[in-house]
Amino acid sequence: VASLETKLEHSVVETGSLKLGNGHLGVIAGPCSVESEEQILESAKAVKAAGATALRGGAFKPRTSPYSFQGLKEVGLQYLAAAREATGLSIVTEVMTPEHVDLVAQYSDVLQIGARNMQNYHLLQAVGEIDKPVLLKRGPSATIDEFLLAAEYILDGGNSNVILCERGIRTFEAHTRFTLPLATVPYLKERTHLPVVVDPSHGTGIASLVKPMALAGIAAGADGLIIEVHPNPAEAASDAAQTISTEAFADLMVQCRKVAGALGYKM
Ligand code: PEP
Ligand code: MN
Repeated sequence: VASLETKLEHSVVETGSLKLGNGHLGVIAGPCSVESEEQILESAKAVKAAGATALRGGAFKPRTSPYSFQGLKEVGLQYLAAAREATGLSIVTEVMTPEHVDLVAQYSDVLQIGARNMQNYHLLQAVGEIDKPVLLKRGPSATIDEFLLAAEYILDGGNSNVILCERGIRTFEAHTRFTLPLATVPYLKERTHLPVVVDPSHGTGIASLVKPMALAGIAAGADGLIIEVHPNPAEAASDAAQTISTEAFADLMVQCRKVAGALGYKM
């Protein structure tokens, strides 16, 4: 169902302020985790002013260590909804279990399936049954075929609004947190009609590399970006090393519009 041959044109996913695919560029930005109402509101206002078209922020966090901050859960979802109320930005946030799908859908506009859950088939089936778009992140060890078959689980349930996200894979290379394979973007665009988004934050793990890889993602034909931004990156409760400041994000957006404009994207 994801194949370009079945549809012959690239899909557009649109919900509220976010529109991406088939020439439309979407920019999803915000902190890794929702930490407080003030933090998410300040982030939302800053990324909106810089030109972001959706707000990200995790309320349910899949942390490597059980001793790390696990997210504010439902309270975090409420803060995200308040940020949408204040700015009009659509909300993208992760859901980790089938039991939480209805709860997360109640407060958000796009449900994110995290890299660690790309092959959680019961979760994929559960989001296949809702009528909100799903942002599916590539598993760090998944092949492209496995990635596309994971998307098929969602499409097969009747949900046709799936966004694919390249967020970097595990390789022998350790200078970056993950290896961000940008050839995935044009390759996927040849094979599937689904929009493709690049995550240069998790893809590199290094804040200074986020802007160049975001611009490279657009140049490679991505339909969107998802970027971690925080009013005070040094104090971020998760993923601080790869998080950029609101000022750095505003600069990134200026460059982003230049590249996107030169390539004929609509923003
Ligand atoms: C995130 O977006 O903060 C996240 C946990 O991403 P990933 O699932 O790609 O690691
Ligand atoms: Mn993160």
